[in-house]
Amino acid sequence: MSQPNIQLIRGFKDILPGETELWQQIERTAIALFEDFGYREIRIPIMEKTELFARSIGEDTDIVEKEMYTFADRKGDQLTLRPEATASICRSYIQHKMYAQDPVRKFYTIGPMFRRERPQKGRYRQFYQIDAEIFGVAAPYADVELIFLLRTLFERLNVTDTTAHVNSLGCPVCRPRFKEALSTLLAKAASSLCSDCLRRKDRNPLRVMDCKVPGCREAMKGAPAILDYLCDDCSSHFSTVTDMLTQLGVPFNVDKQLVRGLDYYTRTAFEIQTGALGAQSAVAGGGRYDGLVGSLGGPEVPAIGFAIGFDRLAEIVALNAPATIRPPDLYIAALGEPAKKLAFEWSAALGLKGIGAAMEYGGKSLKAQMKQANRAGAGRVLIVGESELESGMVALRNMADKTQKDIPVGVIVDTLIETFSKKEQSIG
Ligand code: AMP
Repeated sequence: MSQPNIQLIRGFKDILPGETELWQQIERTAIALFEDFGYREIRIPIMEKTELFARSIGEDTDIVEKEMYTFADRKGDQLTLRPEATASICRSYIQHKMYAQDPVRKFYTIGPMFRRERPQKGRYRQFYQIDAEIFGVAAPYADVELIFLLRTLFERLNVTDTTAHVNSLGCPVCRPRFKEALSTLLAKAASSLCSDCLRRKDRNPLRVMDCKVPGCREAMKGAPAILDYLCDDCSSHFSTVTDMLTQLGVPFNVDKQLVRGLDYYTRTAFEIQTGALGAQSAVAGGGRYDGLVGSLGGPEVPAIGFAIGFDRLAEIVALNAPATIRPPDLYIAALGEPAKKLAFEWSAALGLKGIGAAMEYGGKSLKAQMKQANRAGAGRVLIVGESELESGMVALRNMADKTQKDIPVGVIVDTLIETFSKKEQSIG
């Protein structure tokens, strides 16, 4: 009896050829931009001790309460598949004492994250993030640099339908006063809050501002604005952020409702939103987390970062520009075993020179091979069979203008290398 096919885990997905070209292009664009601005790549593990995320993201957040993939390993250690990258980067920064020589470090990382959310379009249980962080800079220039980088990256990818939303979440000096005012409002509005927010209202009232349930949204309409409660330092920090964004020509909205789902944020919080993806409008989010390194046992080093939802970004980029798949430069149509052996050797030699030469390894007819060459979009086809081997000349056909020229077998690889380098020069 045949076994049932094994399917993907719900909320997980394959990224297939046809899509990966676009992912690579986005990755290359992001990496080039980060490197130009002095960011260095860091690669952190997929799994960490659960405690790291519980302590940094916060016990009262959706992620820690209900979304983490947490399990005991064979020895009973509590481990978690990372739901985001910042906590691990902080752990690594502290563990390797990266602050010792110079606390200022700029990192980027790209990879999968795991959250057990309800899957829907734009929301997956394994999703990818492109992440950048600056450590050791308290000045608002770091905040502006990150938002500027996001804007630039999206522009380079032709994603223009985006808006940057910025807010300040204050600091331990001014936030308590705001929380108090918010809690007073929430106590009055308790009867219209959802069950999650009833719980949040005492433990983490800022999170109620983030709730999408209509009753909670309605209740939050009369909520105080955190910007009215900022202390002088936070206020001047925020003014510099908005001034510099204006100076750099980065459009933004001050969004006083904007909070972030993770506990560790202080001062600037920002999100890039887009109308292109329906309900899942946030394509990137980030903010300052000045207290996190200290609270994880490191020195008091300020920091700020962002995470782009790679899957969502790829979906938006695909709307404007379907992925371009590189066709083979050359197709070698070979007939008969001796010709195939020779063709195989040529295709290996050409591949080493960056010339993609496709061929067929079975016994297909010339007609079938020509069809395959056409379907693959090969620019040129080399035809080699018994008679070509006998005469010592093979025909190279240009598929665009249908011209053909004969090349002696002995110099075929060199001639093709020359042909393709000329072609490249003429394109360049
Ligand atoms: P966060 O780490 O929650 O600040 O999220 C940063 C960005 O990651 C969001 O703006 C989304 O674009 C993306 N993101 C977060 N969760 C998911 C998910 N479950 N599936 C796809 N993308 C996500």
